[in-house]
Amino acid sequence: MKVTIQSIPPSGRSVEVVVDPGLLRTRLADRLDIERFAACRAELTAERIDQTVVVRGEIAVDVLFDCSRCAEAVEATLRFLLHMVLLPRPSRPGPVEDDVDTGYHNGRQIDLDRLIVDHVALAMPDVLLCDPSCRGLCLTCGANFNEGPCRCGDERKG
Ligand SMILES: [Zn+2]
Ligand SMILES: [Zn+2]
Repeated sequence: MKVTIQSIPPSGRSVEVVVDPGLLRTRLADRLDIERFAACRAELTAERIDQTVVVRGEIAVDVLFDCSRCAEAVEATLRFLLHMVLLPRPSRPGPVEDDVDTGYHNGRQIDLDRLIVDHVALAMPDVLLCDPSCRGLCLTCGANFNEGPCRCGDERKG
């Protein structure tokens, strides 16, 4: 979805964006732990002061992934907060504020799909777990410790 910069009022405009999850699959093709990107949508507000556009809101991504510790398949909705200041692309690069994400626009329109895909690609955690306290698998017998202890410990003791 593309938004024309002039169409954004200073008072702000809310935009709902549904992004083709295939764009995320392509962008995060190396994430083999994520089996499927099922859906991606964002509820954003765009505000404009002159040529400076501030886009903020929440992105929700439905995924099917394999837990990095126990390999269990998990369906989850991952949420990402977006807060981005978009400036007209300068002729020469200058200093950028580092407390807020800063980007550039071409002076005419903003490609929200690209903004969202870029943000999700950057913000995606390196490790996805079924639960922060996931106990993982026994390295010896492959038993899932979330379902209880395995027999390996007994054998070592005995
Ligand atoms: Zn797990
Ligand atoms: Zn074991």
